[in-house]
Amino acid sequence: MHANVMERPGQPPRRISRPVRFGEVTIGGGAPIVVQSMCSSDTRDAPATGAQIAALAEAGCEVVRVAVPNREAAAALPEIVRGSPLPVVADIHFDHRLALLALQAGVHGLRLNPGNIRDPTKVREVVRGAAAHGVPIRIGVNAGSLPPVEVPEGRLPPTVEELRATLPERLVEAALGHVRILEGLDFHDTIISLKAFDVPLTIAANRLLAAQVPYPLHVGITEAGLPWAGTIRSAVGIGILLFEGLGDTVRVSLTGDPVEEVRVAYEILRALDLRRRGPTMISCPTCGRTEVDLVRLARQVEEHLRGIEDPITVAVMGCVVNGPGEAREADYGIAGGKGKGAVFRHGEVVATVPEEELVEALMAEIERGLAFKRLR
Ligand code: SF4
Repeated sequence: MHANVMERPGQPPRRISRPVRFGEVTIGGGAPIVVQSMCSSDTRDAPATGAQIAALAEAGCEVVRVAVPNREAAAALPEIVRGSPLPVVADIHFDHRLALLALQAGVHGLRLNPGNIRDPTKVREVVRGAAAHGVPIRIGVNAGSLPPVEVPEGRLPPTVEELRATLPERLVEAALGHVRILEGLDFHDTIISLKAFDVPLTIAANRLLAAQVPYPLHVGITEAGLPWAGTIRSAVGIGILLFEGLGDTVRVSLTGDPVEEVRVAYEILRALDLRRRGPTMISCPTCGRTEVDLVRLARQVEEHLRGIEDPITVAVMGCVVNGPGEAREADYGIAGGKGKGAVFRHGEVVATVPEEELVEALMAEIERGLAFKRLR
């Protein structure tokens, strides 16, 4: 019943779940951890949603979710699905008929919240529809929308502290209640997410759940906040879960452009050596030895690297004390001096140029190296 755990020397273990597929994208079963995001556009506006999906795909997003709050949004789905380079998951709350419309529109997945479609008959109707279309269902339970606690007659309602202490179990129970309905209908193309803003709660709930089901886990910290704080909160929560081997797909939730969510997700995966997409930039924190405007240089290099998909490592270092050493470890790098700097490629100094020309010289070196690699 439970997923297996794969031990990997020198790397985090990995829980091997039962694989499911959103279109061509496999989630679980040891497949690479999938990065997903959610459109912030109005789903009724199919062209705007299509443009946002294209931007997300360009940034490396692999599955996209769209909100389907009403019939007008459901009516836009056929056009959105037709034009999308990514599998589209319809996010449904409250009204199960919207899930049925989404299935007819050809979506590749459904996200349901058991907290707000409580009638088992309606859930069954959706599950039968998903099975007929070969579409997986993500059971998404959030701490903010748990079903109310039932208090037996004659008993006092639980205190706030008691409610808080039982939250991980209640999150798991809400998901398992839904899982039982799906399994009762012999439906197993299931993904589960248990999310909260509270990082320890999210971790505790996912640990409990992972020991009880074989299904893939979608992990994230919900409503994590604006990009700065939300990135840190997500990195801590998602990072700990991934380091424990839990998580087959990730969604970073930030208040802002969803493209930023994709960048953050890859940075988390990169930090744990779980996936690499595009360049990794190493840059020193600067200190009293720095004699170039390193912050400006690092920002410029980061901006220039955005269009590159090759998994190269680039070092941007402030001085020659640690600079050349670190830069030599990287595929490419620069190390500042007094108003000038050295450009490195695979451990060799290939140029020394004035500070104003450093970024240009580094990028020229990178472009040359990548072009040569592609020719081979
Ligand atoms: Fe300071 Fe040089 Fe280290 Fe940067 S690389 S922090 S400038 S010693």
